[in-house]
Amino acid sequence: MRDQVTLACTECNNRNYHTQKNKKNNPERLEFKKFCPFCKKTTVHKETK
Ligand SMILES: [Zn+2]
Repeated sequence: MRDQVTLACTECNNRNYHTQKNKKNNPERLEFKKFCPFCKKTTVHKETK
């Protein structure tokens, strides 16, 4: 079971990354530190729909 998820920057709300997750392993909302090209720095990106 893999679900497509979108990761959005928490500072500018741009959706910068797509990934897949296993809902059984990760039922909660994911958070990743990733580089945001709009903020031009590494920010926290959260799962969104
Ligand atoms: Zn950003």
